[in-house]
Amino acid sequence: MGCCDKGAIKVQEALSAMLAEVTPVETFNTVSLATAFGHCLAEEVLSPLDMPPFDNSAMDGYAFRFNEWQEGTVMPVAGIAFAGQPFQGDVPAGACLRIMTGAEVPAGLDTVIMQEQTSVSDAGVTLTQAPKPKANIRYRGEEIRTGDVVLAAGTRIHARTLPLLATLGISDVKVRRPLKVAIFSTGDELKLPGTPLGQGEIYDSNRFGIEAMLKRMNIECLNLGIIPDDPAQLRDTFLQAVASADAIITSGGVSVGEADYTRDLLAELGEVGFWSVAMKPGKPFAFGKIKERHFFGLPGNPVSAFITFYQLVQPVLRKMAGEHVQTPLRFPAVASQFFRSAKNRTDFQRGILSVNDRGQIVVSSTGAQGSGMFSSLCVANCFVIVDNDVAAGETVLVEPFNEIVN
Ligand code: AMP
Ligand code: MG
Repeated sequence: MGCCDKGAIKVQEALSAMLAEVTPVETFNTVSLATAFGHCLAEEVLSPLDMPPFDNSAMDGYAFRFNEWQEGTVMPVAGIAFAGQPFQGDVPAGACLRIMTGAEVPAGLDTVIMQEQTSVSDAGVTLTQAPKPKANIRYRGEEIRTGDVVLAAGTRIHARTLPLLATLGISDVKVRRPLKVAIFSTGDELKLPGTPLGQGEIYDSNRFGIEAMLKRMNIECLNLGIIPDDPAQLRDTFLQAVASADAIITSGGVSVGEADYTRDLLAELGEVGFWSVAMKPGKPFAFGKIKERHFFGLPGNPVSAFITFYQLVQPVLRKMAGEHVQTPLRFPAVASQFFRSAKNRTDFQRGILSVNDRGQIVVSSTGAQGSGMFSSLCVANCFVIVDNDVAAGETVLVEPFNEIVN
């Protein structure tokens, strides 16, 4: 049986196999800063400017020539420079310039003293503290030079990248078009919230989480609803999905016992990659192709569907979108209780990460971890990745949730 039971492949192998199979979309758009949020840069961005674009003052104070200053020097004030209103005259030898934050420092002046370190009289400015040469000036190009790469291709544009682009005066960028993903839930027992439940029926919850995570990844979602366990309807829905989406995500119908419809359809319309991954929750997880579109079959159990999407599908969709795929941030935390591992499977339990009164990063469990118990996920802020049993006080690997679930 090896490490993984019944032919299940390891999480890392599954991820590597999927990532090797997919390529970024090759359609490009030019978008303005106003609409760029969430898109992936198709090419690196070079700076068209030096940053700062001119020498300017970092303080409200007085600019002068360092080598003209001595203890006790009184420097007459030759004029004033504001941000956006440079001083146009000359600053004579021995004089200084009143200068505001962001105002251009005229050529020749090399030092700014903050106004709090001066005393001012009719005769001029006396420094109450010895200045440091070149102090309080933000020099042209000290951060970025014209032509420097400021953002790599594959960067996703977010709240930190937009101001950088704006600072450099860049008004539009080349991005890859957003992905479009079709989703549907399968199961005769599934009902829409808001409708009454018959005997043995439950509400479809999986699509709500998947659609929300897709939205946070700037992926357009074609939501095809609930499809009963009926081969003809499943076939029609798969064909509808491949006609208009880059990838298809289903939930349910991939576990042993009811896998046949989906597996047969996959065999007929495309190919099956793998069918089972050694993880908990979520061992039933299918990957394949339907008419050249990538297919991800999530398990039906709500927590399993959510976690397999997060751990296995998210990185693959990021690559398809053209985003630079980063390895998730994982680090050891002190277990505040016993964590039991699942045999032969990587166990992604739900935990609460915090800092205790000794400053240690500690993690506790959210309680019962059943694969249908969504409440354990709602209060969590991290995965606890349990490969072996972990005693209280030992360390265990944790992975804080990223932005797509928050
Ligand atoms: P399956 O993978 O289809 O065998 O489903 C496994 C379990 O998940 C069963 O208890 C299903 O009723 C449940 N389930 C399947 N799909 C969903 C869904 N979309 N929302 C909530 N529960 C589901
Ligand atoms: Mg089912």
